[in-house]
Amino acid sequence: MKCFQCAKGKMMPSVTDMTARVRGEETPVRTEAMVCNRCGFHVMTDAQSDAYTIASADAYRTRHGLLTTKELKQAREDLRMSFRAFAKYLKVSEASPKRWEAGLVQDQAMDELIRLKSDLPAARENVTQLEAHLGVPSAASRTQMIVVQMPRREVQSEWDAPGASNSSEGVTLPSGLVPCMWPTA
Ligand SMILES: [Zn+2]
Repeated sequence: MKCFQCAKGKMMPSVTDMTARVRGEETPVRTEAMVCNRCGFHVMTDAQSDAYTIASADAYRTRHGLLTTKELKQAREDLRMSFRAFAKYLKVSEASPKRWEAGLVQDQAMDELIRLKSDLPAARENVTQLEAHLGVPSAASRTQMIVVQMPRREVQSEWDAPGASNSSEGVTLPSGLVPCMWPTA
């Protein structure tokens, strides 16, 4: 490919440091472009331009703690979902997941939703935080409470058994003992 600017040099693929502008922020990006070996003029092929868009978005995402293109793709693939199914799952427009993976930066709230709906540790952590926030016992300690309560329930049902109350009339039993009926001959 001949240089479009000087018409003498040759355009060669070369890794170039560029400054992308993502969401109003300048982001340094190292990406491949076609660069003139004579005057330094550079252009991008369609494929290079696509890669540049993704690299720019990912540089921004990394800086802001957002899921990168690779992580977004992984999240969707872990769920074994097409772009369409993933969009439906997240209740967003059908084009959105495809756009994110092509370099459109998802906003913070959407990033959170994707994590909560695709990442088990993130979903669990959210439950833990929510329990703490609402002041309810965690699921783990609730299970323990049920185990402790079970013997007490059994005792209660014996007390309620028909006939059982008669034999205990006027008798104070030590705790842990339950009344029973004498066989009536
Ligand atoms: Zn040139």
